[in-house]
Amino acid sequence: MAKINSNYQKLAAGYLFPEIGRRVSAFTAANPDAKVIRLGIGDVVLPLPEVIRKAIDAGVEELGQISTFKGYGPEQGYEFLRQAIADHFQSQGADVAADEVFVSDGSKCDTGNIQEIFSTDAAVAVTDPVYPVYVDTNVMAGRTGAADASGRYEGLVYMPCTVENGFDPELPSEHVDLIYLCSPNNPTGAVLSREALQKWVDYAKANEAIILFDSAYEAYISDPSLVRSIYEIPGARDVAIEFRSFSKTAGFTGVRCAYTVVPKTVMGRNESGELVSLHTLWSRRQTTKFNGVSYPIQKGAAAVFTPEGQAAIKETIAYYMENARLIREGLAEAGIAVYGGVHAPYIWLRAPGNITSWEFFDLLLSKAHVVGTPGSGFGSSGEGYFRLSAFGVRENVVEAVNRIKALKL
Ligand code: PLP
Repeated sequence: MAKINSNYQKLAAGYLFPEIGRRVSAFTAANPDAKVIRLGIGDVVLPLPEVIRKAIDAGVEELGQISTFKGYGPEQGYEFLRQAIADHFQSQGADVAADEVFVSDGSKCDTGNIQEIFSTDAAVAVTDPVYPVYVDTNVMAGRTGAADASGRYEGLVYMPCTVENGFDPELPSEHVDLIYLCSPNNPTGAVLSREALQKWVDYAKANEAIILFDSAYEAYISDPSLVRSIYEIPGARDVAIEFRSFSKTAGFTGVRCAYTVVPKTVMGRNESGELVSLHTLWSRRQTTKFNGVSYPIQKGAAAVFTPEGQAAIKETIAYYMENARLIREGLAEAGIAVYGGVHAPYIWLRAPGNITSWEFFDLLLSKAHVVGTPGSGFGSSGEGYFRLSAFGVRENVVEAVNRIKALKL
């Protein structure tokens, strides 16, 4: 028998979303007439804008003609898309060049795969609560011991983000090599301030650490003074890798396209202590294991950056953010403490009455027929919190808020 990678057996059993699915199925089987409203999983619901569909169609047409047919494309993405992405960063005050952009089929893969280019004994810091992919991929790679009863893995450095610290993680007291930051944050909806990000860049420089900055929700920032890209922060080009996605920005969760920026100036060290370019390593990794995103989809992604594309995505984002406002304000009226939901499509709330996240999940499901996500599923510091997503059809969002208000919690 082949020996398995036993690190997989350390993964905490019962991933969050399957468990939610199980409880919802059990409830609907027992209550077939209940109209369940799902504001749990963060998946978009509005259709792809026409300008993007047309660009995808045009790409498909090109593949139908011998003169314009394309086979394998460049693993890092087509130049037209890499350049459009770089120009977009520049327009946000972030210095990124086209050849520093790696186009991919998702930020889940990129944030999950990036750890491969670092040593297996790298010390890793994550926020708590956290997007689970950062943690699980480091567990699979063997950078941790077993999980304790609260689900925390031995060897990982957890940085709590709670109401008490304003969702602003403290610098770790021990040395770490890799720091995962996500802003605007999934699940808390919090945005890291310019000062906080400068603190992290300074820490990374002083400690030769690398920041893995996930800005999958940057397009949801409506205040122009807030930071969208880590490269707006002086010094970040030496210490940070940034991940972005078209998923929540442009409705691409099923289409699949994202990108990662690895500046040519960001370095790691080899075992002899010599500096090595992370750009070179990531390029080597991608060219070995990835064969690029399909041409029509890259054409569709490029259309996102046209004036029509920008107008279209602003409209859908405004729709989701109006949902977020309705949830935020409705729940606040109901006396529930709510956070986030201003520059992010997630509302993070404190379960009323000192009950656990899962108890609140069961209460909402059974009494209001509304599905959300228990905060404890994102980490032990998420216990007692709950996430509602603004990705829903308006009438369902309004109905869900009314039902929650009617519970008189
Ligand atoms: N990063 C964060 C913080 C996310 O919330 C998500 C999706 O929910 C992703 C990355 C994954 O995005 P993609 O659809 O590009 O894989």
